[in-house]
Amino acid sequence: MDSTVIKLLPSSVINKIAAGEVIERPASVVKELVENAVDAGGQRVDVSIEQGGAELIRVADDGCGIAPDDLPLAVTNHATSKIQTADDLFRVGTMGFRGEALASIAEVSRFTLRSRTADATAGAELVVSGGQAEPVAPAGCPVGTTVEVRNLFFNTPVRQKFLRTPQTEIGHATEAFLRVALAHPGRRFSLSHNGRVIHDLPPTDDWRSRIAVLFGQEIADTLIEVASEQDGVRLSGYVANPTVSRANNRLQYLLLNGRAIRDRSLQHALGEAYRGLLLTGRYPVCFLRLDLPPDQVDVNVHPTKLEVRFQDGGRLYSQLLSTLRTKFLSTDLKPVERSSE
Ligand code: ADP
Ligand code: MG
Repeated sequence: MDSTVIKLLPSSVINKIAAGEVIERPASVVKELVENAVDAGGQRVDVSIEQGGAELIRVADDGCGIAPDDLPLAVTNHATSKIQTADDLFRVGTMGFRGEALASIAEVSRFTLRSRTADATAGAELVVSGGQAEPVAPAGCPVGTTVEVRNLFFNTPVRQKFLRTPQTEIGHATEAFLRVALAHPGRRFSLSHNGRVIHDLPPTDDWRSRIAVLFGQEIADTLIEVASEQDGVRLSGYVANPTVSRANNRLQYLLLNGRAIRDRSLQHALGEAYRGLLLTGRYPVCFLRLDLPPDQVDVNVHPTKLEVRFQDGGRLYSQLLSTLRTKFLSTDLKPVERSSE
């Protein structure tokens, strides 16, 4: 007889708990799927959303595809093609590596994964509904992968209740989309909502023109280029002239090794650099890339990898602050006067 009080949870429950951590709202699905498309080498990534993502999120890419036998593994928790050993965790070069996104999404939606590799003559399809997978079936499709996520959270009513209006959800989803698109200007991305095109971004080798398409020419025109390198840490990108500022810090994009992150300390450094140049309550606008050896940063702190832990955050802080201060001095920027507001 089973006399123990402590029981291992059934895998379906374990998966739902894990899914709750990774997939919070439609924007989380968009982020994970678009990142996968990029990891797969897709040069073209098309995102279509219906009703803020509550009804449908579809992401199609022309990347490497998945072989039919691999389809069930793609939706298995902790199954990934991107890392193999614990050491790999400290030299991750891809956006994903935890192998839990597709499993999580398939757990809480009606999910279809259709894919074809370049050397295959036909594609295959896997349908999973609320974590229950059907057998893999042949399917006609172009080389690449298409993921369709319908009725998100249909089997987790509490989560479903927390969904906001389609307008609010598409706002978050758009933000998730553009954070990846910003980091990969060389690829074409599109986003549409209820059949209406929100973004159609042509590939470019000029980061400033990707910024212009995403955030407007007015911002792009005022950008000041910055660059520095210290002890193997490369800082590059653009900060806006103080004449362009915002009432919040949402237009501060920081890409760490190609991944958009949030970092309080670096945002603080940015604020310090603009001290005296902006009116109180105004925030600078920036698009910065930080490239550092992968072993100097732990990206595995949070399931969504939005926050990371730097080995030497203090040094990055000083580098950012001094790079901007030096630039501002040489550019002879004028502080924004109250009267000009
Ligand atoms: P991770 O990205 O962390 O590996 P995911 O759950 O997002 O985990 O994906 C699981 C696996 O499925 C990936 O490692 C990859 O091999 C495969 N995969 C997912 N999306 C795509 C895609 N768009 N194209 C090709 N392979 C994909
Ligand atoms: Mg992934």
